Formats: sequence, structure tokens, C-alpha cells
Amino acid sequence: MGISEADAANELMRLARQIAKHDRLYHAEDDPEISDQEYDALVRRNAELETQFPHLVRDDSPSKKVGHAVSSSPLGKVTHEVRMMSLDNGFSDEEIHEWVARVRRFLSLPDDEPVAITAEDKIDGLSCSLRYESGKLVRAATRGDGQVGEDVTANVAYIADIPQELSGDNVPDLFEVRGEVYMSKQDFAALNAAQHEAGGKLFANPRNAAAGSLRQKDASVTARRPLRFWAYGWGAASEVPGDTQHAVMLQIEAWGFPVSPFLTVTNSVEDMLAHYAEIGRQRPDLPYEIDGVVYKVDRLDWQQRLGFVAKAPRWALAHKFPAEQAETTLEAIDIQVGRTGKLTPVGRLAPVMVGGVTVTNVTLHNRDEIARLGVRPGDRVVVQRAGDVIPQVVRNLTPEVEREAYLFPDACPECGSEAVAEESEVDVRCTGGLICPAQRTERLKHFVSRKALDIDGLGEKTIDQFFALGWLESPADIFRLKDRKDAILALEGWQDKSVDNLLASVENKREPDAARLLFGLGIRHVGEVTARDLMKNFHELPALRQAAEQARAGDEDALSEITSIDGVGGAVVEALGDFFHEPHNVEVWEDLLSLVSPPPYIVETLDSPVAGKTVVFTGKLETMSRDEAKAQAERLGAKAAGSVSAKTDLLVAGPGAGSKLKKAAELGIEVIDEAGWAEIVAAAG
Ligand code: ZN
Repeated sequence: MGISEADAANELMRLARQIAKHDRLYHAEDDPEISDQEYDALVRRNAELETQFPHLVRDDSPSKKVGHAVSSSPLGKVTHEVRMMSLDNGFSDEEIHEWVARVRRFLSLPDDEPVAITAEDKIDGLSCSLRYESGKLVRAATRGDGQVGEDVTANVAYIADIPQELSGDNVPDLFEVRGEVYMSKQDFAALNAAQHEAGGKLFANPRNAAAGSLRQKDASVTARRPLRFWAYGWGAASEVPGDTQHAVMLQIEAWGFPVSPFLTVTNSVEDMLAHYAEIGRQRPDLPYEIDGVVYKVDRLDWQQRLGFVAKAPRWALAHKFPAEQAETTLEAIDIQVGRTGKLTPVGRLAPVMVGGVTVTNVTLHNRDEIARLGVRPGDRVVVQRAGDVIPQVVRNLTPEVEREAYLFPDACPECGSEAVAEESEVDVRCTGGLICPAQRTERLKHFVSRKALDIDGLGEKTIDQFFALGWLESPADIFRLKDRKDAILALEGWQDKSVDNLLASVENKREPDAARLLFGLGIRHVGEVTARDLMKNFHELPALRQAAEQARAGDEDALSEITSIDGVGGAVVEALGDFFHEPHNVEVWEDLLSLVSPPPYIVETLDSPVAGKTVVFTGKLETMSRDEAKAQAERLGAKAAGSVSAKTDLLVAGPGAGSKLKKAAELGIEVIDEAGWAEIVAAAG
């Protein structure tokens, strides 16, 4: 691999933005531009890089998000009582072995303790949560972003697989059945044929057809679409009818729901892989699309202990099916310029079907990758999409003697400035900086994006247009747009109402969230979470700037104040110092802060005895692993730190605790044992 750190950081940034865009197209608009396999490949690549460079994990990382917020939906919103998670993916046999080993380590299981795992095929549909009270269906909701979904109660009434009432005994007062709404291959083909005939929109795949059919304001449209459902789990429940995943699924089936015909319990990794191979063998003949196999730890008490990390449970994994390949011609290599000036080559292909989806673009990553493949426009290449990597060129089929070297541009295609690779860097960057329109507009787009200032109505096209007119030189200019109201109105496509809406959303951000503002500035290494962590500590932006400047000038106290924040390291301090050392940045910063007033950043903590406190674990823990202990601390709103300092509030010491225990005693820090910790956890529920 040999990808440099800088290269990885940039690729992660690009992936975060690409994936966010595709999430929006997929979840909020049901209109994806890429196949699910291509999407998975992006997510996969992101995970690979994050594994290789854990300190580069971005705060807006796709690995921390589920789906997309439902913002512009005509349907009502439903807040899920129990969050709907997504699944981590595995691709190779080794990853499955590693996942099971991780489960064992987390639970501190002895080697001879068997771990039962359920396995079932993963149908490619739309996740849905069905809430039953006293056995009657009272609400159905889509996943949405995992916390808030859309109300589709009226729509699911037309899905025959979903009972309006649970049948049989054992029905709890409250039970939410979770599963997948989907469309069979045959029904999908018939629907698209009918749409074609009627001149309507064609759906890209059965999954999108199912989503588009379910998420209809007019439920009579849903009624005409052949939707199906099967259950894979549950959410909120007044009572869980069983001690294992499998037992509860059998009960759900007995209440009247279809479940996967492949659902089984395995007792070893070998069993799991055999089941996966068997499902893969039958996959082409199944009446519905599947994209992998889902494994879940069977014992519910273990699921409880394993808990969640970021967006996914530790106790479940999706084992995806492998990549597919095809041959085509590389027609052109286009160069795109990003926010940091990086030149990214994109291969344009003669359209080719790979596993049922047309592929026209591939990433070529960077100059070295082009050199490694020896590709240039006109070459025959093998293209791969899905699972294990980004849609990419795997091999060049053109004989080496017939190739000429591709000359990577030494000038920016957007501004003509010299493009160079810095020492030890793979990436070639435009040196135009602020005169490069690509970089400037990309930065502005980042500033107004959903995770940053989140200014509605200031879309990418509007930014490009206003930028071209010279109205947006820097973020501060956004807050001066109100002076251009008449000029905007004079532009084609703008009416009183749309201009008023735009200006109102800008005015709405006069007192922006300080952490979002900081993130929006796009300072290297300062992602969404880092920005929040910094602001939690400094509260006000000028205080952060002062500390960053002092740290850069060699002030040890300022340096340690920043680096003592969990998750903030030297790279962040350096990036902040560099940012404020650049006069132009200071100008932009001061200009911006003269127009907006972020209130002091204060975060409310959870209601648990350790909320907001810093906890350190030391010594040997006997009933749980260190990771589990840390995860518990985070759930209770506490911060788990690695070393004891004056900022430590509580030390949890197991047998064999040494220097940390001694230091805690010196500092007068409260010390408890593992049993004491377990009491706190139990009391918090
Ligand atoms: Zn440029």
C-alpha cells in the first residue's frame, strides 16, 4: 500500500464528503448516482484508511454516521425510542475470524467457551421499525438517520407481510419489530417495465424502488407497489421474549412475521463461513437481492455488554459478497481540484456493466497510482467494483511496449498555477492557494455545509455563481449578502421569496455554534468532533486562538492545556498554530468574528454520578475488558483518560495497580475497585 499520512488524510476528507453526498442522494432523495457496491467500496476504503491511521479518523467520518437526516421529507418525523444502528462490514475470512476474536477479547471469554452466532442473509431493502402497543400496530417509521425517521404508518398498511395485530400468546405491552421493506427481483422488473411504458422514472435497483414506493405522502401510491417485509430484530420492548437472538426471532416469526429462511445458529467461525458460502452459492437464484450475510452474537446478555461503537453494534457484523470485475477502455483522465488544492485524477471509462450496474468513472487516486498501473487514455483495463476497494482499475491490459507514460499535469487545470508535490508527499497540489477558484469555492462549500454552519439555501451552484460574480471572497462575505439583495433579485431564477429565505437562513446564523464555526474553517486535523472537544475546553474562540498562538510560541502550559484534551494531539496543535500564524487566515478570522457572535460553548452533561468527570482505569479488570470499561464510562457521560493527572476525578483500580494508584493517592483522587464501578454502572441502568 505505502500511502503517506498526508495522502490518507486527504483521501479520508474526500471520502467523508463523497459518502455524505451519496448518503443524501440515497436516503433523502432515493436517487443514488452510484451502486450500493460502489458505495460500500467507498465506506470500505474509508475503514481501511481509518484502521491504518487511527489518529486521522475524522470527526465527520462516515463511520460515525447512520444514513441521512430526514430534512425535506413531506412525511411526519418519528424519534426512535431505541436508536436504529447500522452494521459494520467484513469482507475476508480473516476479518470474520478477527471479529469473533474481538468479541471474545471484549467479553474476556476463556478459550474453551463457545460463542454462538446467528447467521442470516442480508436482504437489500429499506430498514423499518414497527411499533406494537398491546399487540396492535400503532406506528411504522423508516430508519432515517438512526435517531429520527419518517412516519410511514399509513403506507405499511398496504404491505401484506406486516400484521396489523400480533397473533398468539406472549405479546408484550410494547414491542417494536425491526426489519427490511423490500421488493422482489421479479416485481422490480415488472414495475420498471410499467414505469417505462408510462414514461415514468426508472428505479436504479430494487432497493430504491422499495424506498421510493414506501416513502410516499400519498399512501395510495404505496398500495399499488408490490412491497414485502421481513423481520431481523427489534427495538424498544417492555419485555423481550427470550434470552437469545435466535429465540426472540422465532417468537417474532410466531407472531406472524416472515424471517430469513437462512436464519441459523452457528458455533464456530468455520460454520459461519460455510453458511456464508452456501448462501453465496444460492444467491443468483434467490427471488430477492441480497448483499451479504449478517452475523449476530446469539446471547442477549452478551449483546448488552458488547454495546455499540459509534454507529454500529459490536455484537453484529455484515459479511459482504466479493467484488466483480469487467474489461473496458479508459477514455480520459480528468483532474479535479479539492479544497486543499490536491489534484485528484478521475478515470472516465467507456461505460461497462459490472455485476449489473453501469460503471463510467473510477478513481485513480494520485500520480503514483497512475504510474503503478501505467495507464493512459486509450488503454484497455480491468475494472473492479464492490467490496474490497473503491471502484478502481485493477490491471492494465495494454501491452507495456505499446504504452507511453502519462504526464501528470504540472499546472492546476482550474487556475493555471504551478502544481507540485511537496517533499515526501504523493499528492500533487495547486500552489495557487487563494487565487485558485477551485480551492476557494470548495472551502466556502465546506463552511456552509450541514456539519458546519448548515446554511440552507446556499447550495453548491449558488456558491459557484456568487463566487464568479465576486460576491463571496471569504466566509465573512456570506454575512454581507444582505447588502446585495437587489443584485441577487436581478439574477435569473431568484424571486423575492427565495432571496428572503436565503437571507433569513444567513441571519439565522449570526450567533452560530462556536464548534461548527471552528469546524467550518477547515483547519487541517480539526474535524467535527475535535472542534467540539476544543470548544468544550475553551468555551470561546478567542481563548482557543490565544492558546494556539502561545503553544506555537513555545508556552508549555498552553501546549499542555490543548494536548490534555482527550483525542487532541500534536498534529492538531501544530495545525492550529500554523493557521493563526498565517496573516491572511487571521484577517479572514477577524473579519468573520466582527460579523457573527458565537455564544460561549457550554455542553450539558448526562445525569449520572460520573457525568462530565474524568475516569482512569488501571490494574487488571476481572469481569470486563478495558475497552468495555471505557465504553461504559462514555455511556455514562464520563471521559475515560489513559493517565492520572490533576484533572482526574476517579480512579478505578483492579489488582496489580501500580504507579497510577500511587499518583492518585498523592493527588487525593477518589479510588474505587471494579465492584464499586459495577455499582455505578448498574445504578445508571
Ligand atoms: Zn488551482
